[in-house]
Amino acid sequence: MTHTVTPAPAGARRGIAYDQVVEAGDGALVAVPAGGELRIVDLHGNQAVDTLLYDRHDIDNRYSAFDTVREQRAVYLTTGSRLLSTRLDELAVLSEDTCGRHDTIGGACSQESNVVRYGEHTRHQHACRQTFLRYGATAGIGQRELGHNINFFMNVPVTPDGGLHFADGLSAPGKHVQLRASRDLFVLVSNCPQLNNPCNGWNPTSVRLLGWW
Ligand SMILES: [Zn+2]
Repeated sequence: MTHTVTPAPAGARRGIAYDQVVEAGDGALVAVPAGGELRIVDLHGNQAVDTLLYDRHDIDNRYSAFDTVREQRAVYLTTGSRLLSTRLDELAVLSEDTCGRHDTIGGACSQESNVVRYGEHTRHQHACRQTFLRYGATAGIGQRELGHNINFFMNVPVTPDGGLHFADGLSAPGKHVQLRASRDLFVLVSNCPQLNNPCNGWNPTSVRLLGWW
């Protein structure tokens, strides 16, 4: 936890309620009240931040990548994107984005997917799925509640033939994305430890979470 004073977003009249640096491979569970703003800062650039959102009063009403993509007819997320739930409720809106593009179809890394993609020797590397389960546990979020996530700052272009490509990131040191909660939320974050593709620039680094409410 740090206590550095950072200017509030334009128009904000509330003080900083949350300020935490999340090291590479670590995570966080943040309770964001309706109307609150949570900013994720890519401190060193090209760092994927795997994120899930839940209605704090009913964790079965959780982020749905499928519904978010389908309802907005857009495969990437950026300013103005509405993050929808499995019941088509609006959980949050991306209120600021200085990066420009975020993925929500590439999924989170797991030990199993690492083995399939990169080989048996990666089985024991730490993965986002473990971080989700560790930090989600205090809110009753278990395997059943882990759906498709958002990969903030991750560049996963959809190829012309419908494939996915894990490409070099578009982010840079100090870029940020910010979400405004449309209802009381749990925001579950895994600062991705992946070493085997370029999503973290081959070198996972820390990010900062800042909240105003
Ligand atoms: Zn990951």
